[in-house]
Amino acid sequence: MKNLLSKLIQAQTTADKGELAAAEIIASELKRFGIDSRIDSWDKTRANITAQVKSTGRKGALLFACHLDVVPPGEANWQNPPFAAVESEGRIYGRGSADMKGGIAAIVNAIGEIADSGTKLQGDIILFGAAGEETDSCGTKRFVRDYGWLPELAGVVLPEPTDFEIITAHRGMLWLKVETFGKAAHSSTPQLGVNAIASMKSILNELENFKIRFEPHELLGECSMSVNTIAGGKAMNIVPDKCDIGIDFRTVPKQNHLDIIDDLQKTFAKLKQKSPQFEAAVSVIRQVGALETDSNCDFVRAFCSAVGITETTAVGFTTDGPFFASLGLPVVIFGPGKPHLAHKPDEYIDISDVEKGVEYFKNIIMKFLS
Ligand SMILES: [Zn+2]
Repeated sequence: MKNLLSKLIQAQTTADKGELAAAEIIASELKRFGIDSRIDSWDKTRANITAQVKSTGRKGALLFACHLDVVPPGEANWQNPPFAAVESEGRIYGRGSADMKGGIAAIVNAIGEIADSGTKLQGDIILFGAAGEETDSCGTKRFVRDYGWLPELAGVVLPEPTDFEIITAHRGMLWLKVETFGKAAHSSTPQLGVNAIASMKSILNELENFKIRFEPHELLGECSMSVNTIAGGKAMNIVPDKCDIGIDFRTVPKQNHLDIIDDLQKTFAKLKQKSPQFEAAVSVIRQVGALETDSNCDFVRAFCSAVGITETTAVGFTTDGPFFASLGLPVVIFGPGKPHLAHKPDEYIDISDVEKGVEYFKNIIMKFLS
């Protein structure tokens, strides 16, 4: 298991390197347990992996959905090289160790041990490893588009780092690009042009008091908004004809992303009324809905009893969970690793947590599928 985790970290599955190497490592590990898998690869290095452990089919299948990719190590200095998988004092260090290669190593071993034991399952185990969860969810979108071959599913488990808390809700995200368009002119005669940066200034002023329509959520709180990028202008002596900003909204369950876009467009219309030369547009860069699984549904109650925890809770980060929820499936996030270490320098996972993860996942499989 430790060996698998190290190899997965060393595979360096950032968006530019792709996930294919990690998919191949998982495929050969599953092969050792006699489990076949299918790698779906595109653009040379991008890859999803799917494996199915067949059963009598009397019960609904369990889908364990992981992501193979990691975020880049970032600019900060790491005490150990981020892709060396250094082991020290019971921990394995490296980008992706917690988010979420520890979870992958745990579920692969749990499935392998159950297959090895010869246990007769009443429902299939489906293991899915996705590309691109950290960037554009390309892998999960691809999987969900082509899910017709799947057996009937009882539910979905995401082995993300939750430190063994059961997560049933998280906020969604909506990344918008807002552009303003002006007219270029020599800056010695700015009156002949329309300054796109000045137009953006009026939008930024409006955003100070922008009212977002949502109902606060008891666990997740409010929808947040943050303007995180800005770009405009090409040269010191040209009136800029373009400016753009990037806004990150973190939305709550039941909130409609289209309302935000609609309200922004109304703001643009108001500004255009004041100044006819004003031109602006908004486009979606990325969006993932919020997740909210009914914590009293049968699947979650059975899940709680399988792991011996009664409470479910919510987290701040987002996952690919909502794509599976859109298929009408209950989704639970549960796995080894401290969530606060994700995306940070010196990310690590306790080896004992990965071992605990194997036991938890075996219990979950036996509870639902035996
Ligand atoms: Zn993750």
